[in-house]
Amino acid sequence: MKTKAAVLYEIGAPLVIEELELEGPKANEVLVKYTASGICHSDYSFRYGVIKSAIPSVLGHEGAGIVEEVGSGVTDLKPGDHVIASLTPACGNCLFCLERKPFMCVEMGKVIWQGCLPDGTTRLKNAKGQAIGQLVGVGTFSERAVIPAGNAIKVDHNAPLDTVCLIGCGVTTGVGAALNTVKINPGDSCAVIGCGGVGLSIIQGARIAGATMIIAIDPVPQKRELALKLGATHAIDPKAVNPVKEVRALARGGVHFAFEALGLKATIEQAWSMARATGTAVIVGVPSMDTEIELPVLGFFGEKHFKGSAYGTSVPSKDIPKFVDLFMKGDLKLDAMITNRIRLEDVNDAFDAMSRGEGARSVIMYN
Ligand SMILES: [Zn+2]
Ligand SMILES: [Zn+2]
Repeated sequence: MKTKAAVLYEIGAPLVIEELELEGPKANEVLVKYTASGICHSDYSFRYGVIKSAIPSVLGHEGAGIVEEVGSGVTDLKPGDHVIASLTPACGNCLFCLERKPFMCVEMGKVIWQGCLPDGTTRLKNAKGQAIGQLVGVGTFSERAVIPAGNAIKVDHNAPLDTVCLIGCGVTTGVGAALNTVKINPGDSCAVIGCGGVGLSIIQGARIAGATMIIAIDPVPQKRELALKLGATHAIDPKAVNPVKEVRALARGGVHFAFEALGLKATIEQAWSMARATGTAVIVGVPSMDTEIELPVLGFFGEKHFKGSAYGTSVPSKDIPKFVDLFMKGDLKLDAMITNRIRLEDVNDAFDAMSRGEGARSVIMYN
């Protein structure tokens, strides 16, 4: 069958919108017709080669849609099921899956770096017959995709797919960082550096966990405003004041948890300095993989912790339906995070807006 998709052929170049030929699902795979896809900052990083994946490839990894067909061996999904595409194939057989840590599934690395399905092949071809990969095994910048069944997480039929699609990456990464990676106790203080989709999700997770001081840090006024609406109690412009000094002053020496959601050396180092003695710096943003950081050693003798967070330390089959429930109950506010709804053809304009720091999330709508 045919599917219209946005393909990255050259690092840094605009995505090419074209019709691709899509093969049906093989064993343990499902065909999904996407309803919508968020555009995540990591798509931008892949486009510009800051994070590397094989090309040519259909980008996009934050989608939700409806199952149209299932391959052999798929027993827990059927046509008509509503699903969110998770970032991990959760193969169930690797060392990490067997320890109930599917956010570290070894197949996930393969599909991320090689842009293929877990069996090493792709289901997409362009008009010239060239094989086209799909980012993170899900390639959501396409009307349809064949994805591993483990990536397709069934959700409540009543949940609006064009909104809960954000749970596929940004929300699970951010809310999961606050609820799973660390244990925030009611009354704790948090700082969040970067208020895009992931940062705003961390802020909401911290609010849900009962943090009473949540300091949002972002140079863009609209993002600070949104952060205050979604649960932040304070907002700091890091261009106007020294954010480390400001956080330490507000939280009497530093916060219990300092989250970094940008993936930059300077702000990762700032997060460490914002955490109080016995506090934790949590690195959620994904930097270029050759980034090296420098930390003053003194903090270790204040018993500070330094933690990475990958996909919100989540078990998608359990956490994604839980985050959908939090949204349906009104605890998790996703509508406010969607600043633009666009057509697939406008994806390159959305990247341009992202490079200017505008908006929290653009969502591509499919017919
Ligand atoms: Zn993402
Ligand atoms: Zn696995």
